[in-house]
Amino acid sequence: MELGQILVTEKDIQRRVAELGERITADYQGREVFVIGILKGAAVFMSDLIRQIKVPVEIDFMSLSSYGTATKTSGVVRMLRDLDREIAGKHILVVEDIVDTGLTLSYLRENLMVRKPASLKICTFLDKPSRRQVELKPDYCGLEIDDYFVVGYGLDYNEKGRELPYIAVVKP
Ligand code: 5GP
Repeated sequence: MELGQILVTEKDIQRRVAELGERITADYQGREVFVIGILKGAAVFMSDLIRQIKVPVEIDFMSLSSYGTATKTSGVVRMLRDLDREIAGKHILVVEDIVDTGLTLSYLRENLMVRKPASLKICTFLDKPSRRQVELKPDYCGLEIDDYFVVGYGLDYNEKGRELPYIAVVKP
């Protein structure tokens, strides 16, 4: 893997995460947030984000895998790990690393809505709106980017690069 341009520096990441935390804190005043992180990519962002949310938080994780080839998602999603507990009546905040076609989160949203949460919002660190195949607008977004394949801050290229403290473009 050869890295190109650094799209988001470590400093800019921390600033955006703090801003997202402030907005979420303001929006959830007087409530408790049930944060669901989507493994593995969102783990790094989620661990930073929850420390910037100043209302009570509960966390859990889900792991999803979409069928298809490396370049083409089929939109059929397989659940590899489900939540430990029920979410009925809870305020759910799904935390994702990046939204691309939107197929994964669109599937997940329907799957979670069946469980009757009190509310459900989506927070993604990165968004590639130009790639969208289904209607999906994150409620909170760190940064919109153009159609690059990026790694770092939890995002991988064949399981490499997740530990990078910045987000960089992978050279094709
Ligand atoms: P979607 O269903 O929105 O097309 O897929 C979202 C998932 O695709 C993300 O959770 C992530 O795993 C993967 N993905 C999409 N774009 C990128 C990218 O630029 N870099 C990396 N590492 N993963 C990506």
